[in-house]
Amino acid sequence: MLIDTHANLHNAAFDDDLSEVIQRAKQAGVGAFVTICCQMDEFPPALALAETIKNTWCTVGVHPHYAAQHAGLAVEKLVELAAHDRVIGIGETGLDYHYNYSPRQAQIDNLLTHIEAARQTGLPLILHTREADEDMSQILQDEITGSSIRFVLHSYTSGAELAKIGAKLGGYFSVNGISTFKNAIEVRDIIDKIMPDDRIMLETDCPYLAPVPNRGRRNEPAFLPMVRDQLAEIKGWSIRQTNTRTNKAFFDLFTKAMLHGSA
Ligand SMILES: [Zn+2]
Repeated sequence: MLIDTHANLHNAAFDDDLSEVIQRAKQAGVGAFVTICCQMDEFPPALALAETIKNTWCTVGVHPHYAAQHAGLAVEKLVELAAHDRVIGIGETGLDYHYNYSPRQAQIDNLLTHIEAARQTGLPLILHTREADEDMSQILQDEITGSSIRFVLHSYTSGAELAKIGAKLGGYFSVNGISTFKNAIEVRDIIDKIMPDDRIMLETDCPYLAPVPNRGRRNEPAFLPMVRDQLAEIKGWSIRQTNTRTNKAFFDLFTKAMLHGSA
């Protein structure tokens, strides 16, 4: 069984056929899911799915795109919502200087709020970082060094230096369909040479980023084995090794996640 560690199952793209999507995932060997909260009004629907779909968890947090709209977000609010037993991580949060939908300072403030919530709850941070290598490196070094804060750099497309810093600070990585894109040569190189073998997880980031040959279509958890196969090829691992390693990494990082019965 595989775990889709970063999905957006509560996204409107799945409103019409979520039960079929989950059924197809199970047929493809994907039996557990983390549905990722990207802004506060997504939290109730994300939690509702985590409570109804077997072996599904959610997170609580604000994506950098929405940082400006959440300027008053309190650490205490994140900590309070994170106490629910289906909430296993803080985020996704981070810095996105590609789109800059929120001003940079708002993104940084939002990230620091989440880091503090991770510190207080002991839950791992789910980090998004795009074209913000310098600031993300600085913040990670300042905030994570010497702390017990754990984190994952998801959907990694940033540079080698930041990846090295993340790995050195004990960070995890999650690999998705981008790794199958023809032009993602640097992404594959960083997966191969920098991402630690015991700290890589699989994700779809569905409904976005469908792997080749489904690129451009709606992504769904049933496509996760394509990502797994690509990771196996990049790392030179067997399929079995890849399944075992990525699942172990998930439970090592998301210590609050527990499976219920057979998936
Ligand atoms: Zn993201």
